[in-house]
Amino acid sequence: MYKIKINREKCKAGVCGGLCSKLCPSNWRILEDNKAHVIRVKVNSLGCNEKAMLACPFKAISISRM
Ligand code: SF4
Repeated sequence: MYKIKINREKCKAGVCGGLCSKLCPSNWRILEDNKAHVIRVKVNSLGCNEKAMLACPFKAISISRM
């Protein structure tokens, strides 16, 4: 099981174009305040969430094992 965290201070969706939500639309949304939102915070397998984390230009996404 993994836990996904978004650092809202670091997230700048207006600059990156919402990259995480494009790479992993099943679990990421961009809210009206231009910050990323994780739909399922706890997941059994990483799937595309890992791709989103690695692609984030501001290192705003972190994933830890539970
Ligand atoms: S890729 Fe990073 S900076 Fe861009 S919207 Fe997602 S979390 Fe925010």
